[in-house]
Amino acid sequence: MYELELERVAAEIVRRGASRVLLQLPDGMRPFAFQVADYIRKTTSAEVVISGDSCYGACDIASRQAIELNVDLLIHYGHSCFDIAADVPVLYVEARILFDVSKMVEAVLPSISGWGKVGLASTIQHTTQLCEVAVALKQKGVKALIGEGVGITPEAGQVLGCSYAAATKLPEEVNGYIFIGGGRFHPLGLALTTGKPIVIANPYNGSVTRLDESELMQLAKRRMALLTAAKSAKTIGVLVSSKPGQRALPDAICLAEKLGDRDIRAFIIYLDEVRAEQLNNFNEAEAFIETACPRIALDGVAGVERPILTSTEARVLLGERSWEETWGHGYLS
Ligand code: SF4
Repeated sequence: MYELELERVAAEIVRRGASRVLLQLPDGMRPFAFQVADYIRKTTSAEVVISGDSCYGACDIASRQAIELNVDLLIHYGHSCFDIAADVPVLYVEARILFDVSKMVEAVLPSISGWGKVGLASTIQHTTQLCEVAVALKQKGVKALIGEGVGITPEAGQVLGCSYAAATKLPEEVNGYIFIGGGRFHPLGLALTTGKPIVIANPYNGSVTRLDESELMQLAKRRMALLTAAKSAKTIGVLVSSKPGQRALPDAICLAEKLGDRDIRAFIIYLDEVRAEQLNNFNEAEAFIETACPRIALDGVAGVERPILTSTEARVLLGERSWEETWGHGYLS
């Protein structure tokens, strides 16, 4: 299904005269790793090494490995450019997946009955077809709006788990959003950011579902309970990830200082992955604030019993913003 763009990849390797490349694919694309590596070996003279470490998102490029291996090019599949100073040339291959637009629009119509205007959003895999979807919806009497690409989401309508700006900056108010893609990770983020109803059109299995309001309510209750628990903490660990696109040391320092001003002992902890094994031995910390990927806190870290707040929730803890101002209003902006 994925457009692996093998010819483009090989041509770039030759054009750059790369003699060793590092290939990085997110977990879901690893079944294609050997196919890509094989093609590169057969069509170029470059040596190929495949990154076996985790790759959680566009922020998580294997620049450290690339430097250690002294490669000439890092080939990163599955994401668009995240605007990271990688210290090594990076070739991004978005791995698009095309779908049948008219079939999807027909399937989605009953779920948006009564909606005069909708916003469209998707991951990088499907953004090239959003305009086609908008045209097809218009023919059915629905006005579809697509936000302009911005920053780390350069394509119109594109979303990341931590950024919805390109999908949500619309010139007009909409009744809700159609998210095109698989899973609930991105639609949930879209709902938390916009506070709007979300219909999920899954191009992989053709299903159309509506994001359940009760799921959002349960999440809100869980987050509020954690926030309340964190409010009594007198010692807090502020987590900073070493992943290239997540390093937020200045934010963490600022948060730690503000906590200090409120007589809360705050310590900055620098780590690659936020896991129970890393955190549990910091037994003085009564809570953690993580400035890495906001979805880590939201999804929870198995085995960590203490509250882990996002940076946004930390602002609520500090009294800089109210809960009502964040939940459904740029909670994950
Ligand atoms: S910070 Fe999290 S949500 Fe954002 S790109 Fe990285 S892994 Fe994805």
